[in-house]
Amino acid sequence: MEMKSRIQEKFKLLYGTDGDMFASAGRINLIGEHTDYNGGYVFPGAINKGIVIEIKLNGTDKVHAYSLDYDEYVEFGLNEEDKPQQSWARYIFGVCRETIKRGGKVEGFDTVFAGDVPLGAGLSSSAALESTFAYALNYLFNNMTDKFELAKIGQSTEHNYCGVNCGIMDQFASVFGKKGSLIRLNCKTLEYKYFPFDPEAAGYKLVLVDSCVKHELASSAYNQRRQSCENVCAAIKKNHPDVEFLSDAKRVWLEEVRELVPEEDFLRAEYVIGEVQRVLDVCDALERSDYETVGEMMYQTHFGLSRLYEVSCEELDFLNKLARKCDVTGSRVMGGGFGGCTINLVKDNLYDDFVNTAIEKFTEKFGHAPKIYDVVISDGARKIEF
Ligand code: ADP
Ligand code: MG
Repeated sequence: MEMKSRIQEKFKLLYGTDGDMFASAGRINLIGEHTDYNGGYVFPGAINKGIVIEIKLNGTDKVHAYSLDYDEYVEFGLNEEDKPQQSWARYIFGVCRETIKRGGKVEGFDTVFAGDVPLGAGLSSSAALESTFAYALNYLFNNMTDKFELAKIGQSTEHNYCGVNCGIMDQFASVFGKKGSLIRLNCKTLEYKYFPFDPEAAGYKLVLVDSCVKHELASSAYNQRRQSCENVCAAIKKNHPDVEFLSDAKRVWLEEVRELVPEEDFLRAEYVIGEVQRVLDVCDALERSDYETVGEMMYQTHFGLSRLYEVSCEELDFLNKLARKCDVTGSRVMGGGFGGCTINLVKDNLYDDFVNTAIEKFTEKFGHAPKIYDVVISDGARKIEF
């Protein structure tokens, strides 16, 4: 049965009535990796995998929530000390609390929800969950919160109730996502702009290959990379006082400090400055529907992440090489690195060969199959109208 119907059936069974339905989405990031904390651009879009909820105010001060996927029912109040035990319920509780903290109204409601974003695969199922509830509560209580603040409600939920110190990209993409568009977000100014992205119309597919590995290094390496970027930024700033983030620096300004910073830091910075420019180049290419250039930039990003920023791993480099061999238009590791997915832009007629080869060769080498997710850029947070 379709997800929506399963939710409706359960809602009726539990609460004896019908509610309103809302949805939001997971996200991909086409290009712009490790640029967020350097004040650069990211380029995400919402995908056709998300969270769907049914919800109705219940006239009490309690939330009644049922997760179809976990087959679990939880009740909680809306005060700070009412924080539920179940981690999935903390996302909903957090969104309620963060809305209230911003002066919004939230009272008791009944809800049933489900989703089809793979958990922990780098597609941000948690942001999908947060933004669906943030959007729905804003709608039902008529809080008139602006969309950016809805994204921040999700982000603060991660920080304050889920122990994840994330940036704004995931929730931003999930709230602002639009079918057929990617959104270039300037992480320094928070200005954003939509660009057309419709690979299907041009004969391409977007497919993620999930290595299903996550190497331990990730969090310590992340902090070291940030430190390297700050070091180089500080060195450049001595010559160019207006430079606040590494993304403000020109390539030649980096050259000026080559002898003054450790070589490793230099390479990290070289990647970041290159990546900021690649996002701009991809946006230009998309305005001409030039997907071949988009793909080439994706390969360059992978090279940079692997050789300069050094956040790839054997499994991801293997998948990237394989993509090249199969004539895939563009391929790169997506997300922080050390595991997770590659994102691939592939011509329709090469799709089957690529996916089959990736499964076969990867399994042969690493002893387990990768997972394949087809994605289409779709709408973000919204009310489902019947
Ligand atoms: P991701 O990278 O997918 O965001 P996270 O660990 O940040 O991974 O978030 C996953 C968590 O979000 C799950 O452990 C669960 O608590 C919650 N979640 C996501 N999707 C669902 C769902 N369909 N049903 C219930 N909880 C969900
Ligand atoms: Mg998450």
